[in-house]
Amino acid sequence: MSRRINLAVIPGDGIGQEVVTQGLKVLRAALPQDVKLETQEYDFGAKRYHATGETLTDTDVEQLKGHDAILLGAIGDPSVPSGVLERGFLLKLRFLFDHHVNLRPSKLLPGVATPLAGQPEIDFVVVREGTEGPYTGNGGTIRKGTPHEVATEVSVNTAFGVERVVRDAFARAQARPRKKLTLVHKNNVLAFAGHLWTNVFNEVAKEFPEVTTDYIHVDAATIYLVTDPGRFDVIVTDNLFGDIITDLAAAVSGGIGVAASGNINPSGEFPSMFEPVHGSAPDIAGQGKADPTATVLSVALLLRHLGYEAEAARIEEAVAADLGERGTAPRTTEEIGDALAVRV
Ligand code: ATP
Ligand code: MG
Repeated sequence: MSRRINLAVIPGDGIGQEVVTQGLKVLRAALPQDVKLETQEYDFGAKRYHATGETLTDTDVEQLKGHDAILLGAIGDPSVPSGVLERGFLLKLRFLFDHHVNLRPSKLLPGVATPLAGQPEIDFVVVREGTEGPYTGNGGTIRKGTPHEVATEVSVNTAFGVERVVRDAFARAQARPRKKLTLVHKNNVLAFAGHLWTNVFNEVAKEFPEVTTDYIHVDAATIYLVTDPGRFDVIVTDNLFGDIITDLAAAVSGGIGVAASGNINPSGEFPSMFEPVHGSAPDIAGQGKADPTATVLSVALLLRHLGYEAEAARIEEAVAADLGERGTAPRTTEEIGDALAVRV
């Protein structure tokens, strides 16, 4: 039987096009002959916004729904007011497609520099909740612009939302050799949300007796991510804490050039979206300097999500081998993509 992947491709802004081109090249090289890859490119981002004022229309959303998955380069440009594309595109899509699992693996590969002393072993995955917390636009301002302005930004945590992401994290921990899951929160101070997270975590834990669990406050977690990152296997945390600790995690495990992510709807009801953690990097756009490795690793996450485990593993092995031999001579975006495509 012939298999088929119907992929939406969103190059976006800045270096997005450059890295996505290489990501697709490696994807094509990794897929077996019998898998038919169909791609449809979309022009979301700054150019479309300037031309039409649109970020993501209802028609766009309907079209995107028809794909198996989405590969995104980067959205964002200094010419667009801050927040417009983030809220109008990225957050909007995350809510509409219910991408409640934000997956960010951190693995320090051989040959990759880390600012940490002694090249510690780092191999963990952060499962960040993607649709709740303080990111729901629930809040407001009174007496705006006056010395008496009051602004609130309410963190929303539902039993439904917390349970489904915690359950997903337990399942991921169960599937890994170390089978360890750490809840990161701040339940001593954020007592209401903290209680819900801790309670749900402890309840779901009963269904996964093989998984070792622990709990760490988010502030302590930032210390351990630097002093003892090897203690982590899978971390589950809320939207805001996850945002912050995953940037720290990327910084200690090889940097922004190799950090991949998935915005996942585990039920498959809507397509999941995979993207490098880095942004559009306008300072190096169009110069062939961007490292496409993060995008290539995001392609591996995409393939694994669609059930192509062997192909995903081959891409990750190719990246590891390439990084191990990369040396110090600078290579262009295309040279790195070519080297990876040859290896898969
Ligand atoms: P955003 O708001 O879109 O997240 P940002 O301000 O966080 O953007 P990034 O675009 O993520 O910034 O990148 C920060 C800097 O890191 C860039 O200016 C660039 O110099 C460097 N950088 C980012 N991505 C890459 C890459 N793939 N390869 C090489 N350098 C990169
Ligand atoms: Mg950023």
